[in-house]
Amino acid sequence: MIFYRRLPKFRYLKPRSEEELFNMISSEKKTYVFAGGTDLIPKLKRRLIPSPDAIVDLKGIPYFNYVEVSDGFLRIGPTCTMRSIYSSPDVIKHFPVLAQASKSVGAFQIQNRATLAGNICNAVPSADTAPALLVLEASLTLKGKKGERKVKIEEFFVGPNKTVIEEDEILREIEIPLISLESSGLYTKLSVRERMDLAIVGVATLVLKENGKICDVRIGLGAVSPTPIRAKKAEAILKDGRITEASIDEASKVASEEASPIDDHRASKEYRRLMVETLLKRSLKKLLEV
Ligand SMILES: Cc1cc2nc3c(=O)[nH]c(=O)nc-3n(C[C@H](O)[C@H](O)[C@H](O)COP(=O)(O)OP(=O)(O)OC[C@H]3O[C@@H](n4cnc5c(N)ncnc54)[C@H](O)[C@@H]3O)c2cc1C
Repeated sequence: MIFYRRLPKFRYLKPRSEEELFNMISSEKKTYVFAGGTDLIPKLKRRLIPSPDAIVDLKGIPYFNYVEVSDGFLRIGPTCTMRSIYSSPDVIKHFPVLAQASKSVGAFQIQNRATLAGNICNAVPSADTAPALLVLEASLTLKGKKGERKVKIEEFFVGPNKTVIEEDEILREIEIPLISLESSGLYTKLSVRERMDLAIVGVATLVLKENGKICDVRIGLGAVSPTPIRAKKAEAILKDGRITEASIDEASKVASEEASPIDDHRASKEYRRLMVETLLKRSLKKLLEV
């Protein structure tokens, strides 16, 4: 493989408002949206994607950078970095599973630039934040010049590096419903090195309780199928508080069967399946105190 070190030539555009942004996207022939650039720039340097006429930097729009609670939702803007997410008191308080997942992306240098929106728009199966957003049942607002639409995160990923986002759209907002029930969550990542390494397996687990009784368990898996997925069959085994050591073992086994991992230089598919089972069992036992 030829490894280029220089970027191809393109125009760098930095709009200051959404109006400018969508005009730029629709008037240039081929554009890429640029948020933190931690995925885009290496891909352009290695010529893994076609060279664009222009890249459009979202970070020039000041009001795109927010993480806030309003109308019963946590709302995250498209230029919000991993660091501002895991440092947000609202995220720490309401969604520790998202704080853990965003803190596991790369190291400080990456966390200071990389955005949550960029992580999911990149749509790699191993994106660390995707399993957490899946169990939190996030919705995504996609916006273009003609208007906006809402898509559930479960419908967003359609294959490796593929999402339902259209060429002239951006991911404008990530919206997570506040949970009124008692909840606890955990993101566990297995990677070769502790830092700066992609997940071999990522498991997000969320437990919801009503009047002290477990009423729902949600399981999100990353890096073990063409897209991040919910392990729905495993979840069904634990529904309505049917929690015993045996049901946890069974659910963990079923989740590993719901995965369809690949063999690659990081791990074999058999190992990934086994690690889904092991990590999920550990997470469930910890969260369910079994
Ligand atoms: C050294 C290193 C370590 C890494 N470690 C990890 C890791 O541990 N875990 C992990 O999950 N990832 C990791 N990554 C990958 C990367 O850092 C993340 O995926 C990051 O979240 C991408 O965000 P970004 O803002 O930099 O995206 P960018 O590179 O700016 O964009 C990524 C893609 O999404 C598109 N895009 C960005 N924002 C939008 C938007 N709002 N609307 C529409 N399209 C958009 C871009 O056009 C591009 O195609 C690592 C990368 C590096 C270089």
